Amino acid sequence: MSGQVEANRAGDGRRRGGITLRGVSKTYGAGEAAVQALADVDLDIRPGELVAVLGASGSGKTTLLNVIGGIETADSGSIMVAGQDISGRDPAGLGEFRRDHVGFVFQFFNLIPTLTARENVEVIVELTGRGDRRQVPKLLAAVDLADRADHFPAQLSGGQQQRVSIARALATDPDLLLADEPTGALDVATGQGVLDLLQQTSRAGRGVVMVTHNEVAAGIADRVIRMRDGRVTANEVNANPVAATSIRW
Ligand code: ADP
Ligand code: MG
Repeated sequence: MSGQVEANRAGDGRRRGGITLRGVSKTYGAGEAAVQALADVDLDIRPGELVAVLGASGSGKTTLLNVIGGIETADSGSIMVAGQDISGRDPAGLGEFRRDHVGFVFQFFNLIPTLTARENVEVIVELTGRGDRRQVPKLLAAVDLADRADHFPAQLSGGQQQRVSIARALATDPDLLLADEPTGALDVATGQGVLDLLQQTSRAGRGVVMVTHNEVAAGIADRVIRMRDGRVTANEVNANPVAATSIRW
């Protein structure tokens, strides 16, 4: 019992897939041109929650995601993600953290154009030494791309490319999946398929944080965080998340 209390006090970021931020700030530029992208952000996300981060353009959503995922460093504050204290880590330490714990889904996919869908996923398994190359066909089948495995990105639609990028992000079996406007470049039907994959990933026990400016898409989340001018202005549990397959926008 006291062990449990102790664990809760230590924060959700101590546990696999959980996130705890305390007083996290980040400013870009200096002097007159300084922009505070994150202003004293506190955040607690439980392991396995599907989180939507909403906010206007420029409110700090991408910066928040990148700081959580160790792509960017904060100027101050403490960041505990998936049991790892990443505040103050050097670039090599952050690289290790990303390799071992995080999968990223980018708005514009970031696939390697000279590699097929299958190779785009396999290369991550090889580079990270995590996951299993033999599972790649299964992963591509899970994102409904079994019959496109040997196609190059230019031969795939936007939705198909985004699904390759999700398979790639999942190939290392990350504790945490971070997705920056994953449906931003997609039409409604393909966007819905991508949201369904994120929801399935979360239900399989991984933490998922999705940045979006789509209120409807946020309806699938277990927790909705709103940002404005680098601050978290709301952080609410959604008691009734809707199925991704049932939403329209
Ligand atoms: P969002 O994802 O919500 O659109 P961002 O996190 O990208 O917001 O940006 C937050 C603020 O920080 C914005 O004012 C943006 O212009 C600024 N910003 C983001 N990245 C940089 C950068 N690399 N250099 C300078 N300013 C930046
Ligand atoms: Mg952004």
